[in-house]
Amino acid sequence: MTVAALIVAAGRGTRAAGEAAVPKQYWPLGGVAMLTRSISAFAEHGCVDEILVVVHGDDAKLYQAAAAPYATRLRAPVLGGAMRQDSVRAGLEALSAARPTKVLIHDAARPFVDAALIDRVIFCLATHDAALPSLPVTDTIKRANDGHVTETLKRDGLWRAQTPQGFKFDAILAAHRKAAEAGLTDFTDDSAVAEWFGLDVGLVEGSEANRKLTSAEDLRSADDGLRLRQGGSGTMRVASGYDVHAFASGDAVILCGVRIPHEKKLSGHSDADVALHALTDALLGVIADGDIGAHFPPSDERWRGQASSLFLKEAGSRVKARGGKIVHADITLICEAPRIGPYRDAMRANVADVLGLEISQVSIKATTNEGLGFIGRGEGIAAMATATVLLP
Ligand code: MG
Repeated sequence: MTVAALIVAAGRGTRAAGEAAVPKQYWPLGGVAMLTRSISAFAEHGCVDEILVVVHGDDAKLYQAAAAPYATRLRAPVLGGAMRQDSVRAGLEALSAARPTKVLIHDAARPFVDAALIDRVIFCLATHDAALPSLPVTDTIKRANDGHVTETLKRDGLWRAQTPQGFKFDAILAAHRKAAEAGLTDFTDDSAVAEWFGLDVGLVEGSEANRKLTSAEDLRSADDGLRLRQGGSGTMRVASGYDVHAFASGDAVILCGVRIPHEKKLSGHSDADVALHALTDALLGVIADGDIGAHFPPSDERWRGQASSLFLKEAGSRVKARGGKIVHADITLICEAPRIGPYRDAMRANVADVLGLEISQVSIKATTNEGLGFIGRGEGIAAMATATVLLP
């Protein structure tokens, strides 16, 4: 038994053409051509024996560059036809020399297909003529005419078809030949050709990541996402902040914007939120933009009694203005009292809200000072913070 992968990359990508000087399947995503990523999914999969790409005649140079990392794994490329269906048939005819038992037909515009999905498709072919990865339709589907809705369709039983679609090789080759003979050219995928031919098409679970990249916006967001994940075009920076405030008589302290009842308050010019001051300094440190005292001097009456979330928000905006993305904020409070634990999640939620982060990106820890020194004597609270930021 041999499994072949047929990757269709002959399209002109006109929908994305505004952005792309090259057809979209050659567009670099995180520095790697979309087609190279699609090829790699099959080349790195242990069960795929043959790989063939169907290309456009104008793309010889682009193909050569995109295929180079897997040159030894690829059969000679085949030129596509006017319609996608013609391209697939040309690929199948070329593969027939290798006599594969199964073929996976994949659109190059789905570069994020993973090994588990390919496994599911191959496995399904043990019991079906064809295997279709798909996801249920979750949006409500409307039919419209001339900008006016004419009908709301029932979405039960509707599925979004993806690729790779798997087939018993001889069956799908026969189906494509027969469709060509019948002059039928408007099938939008190979499963449709198989259905028309009377093959049994089984459904397997697709994946949201395996989306088709169609628009310039799709390409840009995929590229951004990959660059961020790789940190490839950016620098990860880490900076720390430290602050301490003394206790004064009062009935509550403010930590990370949360009011915590206590027998004392923290004294300071603003609300004396020692935790947010430390984190503000850490964020300013990441972009080497001075410290909290430089931006919000205690001598300035504007900041008297201010909520320190204002300072944190400003530091966050300065990071964002530099193209930075805050990856993680970590705060340690050092005090004998009050107890921080019961307020920890409210504090995390507050910091996340001010900085526009997920709560999982904010960590708050607390420790006592074991009765030692000024903190041990209960004279004040200290805070340390670390900010991790990806800068372009
Ligand atoms: Mg302070």
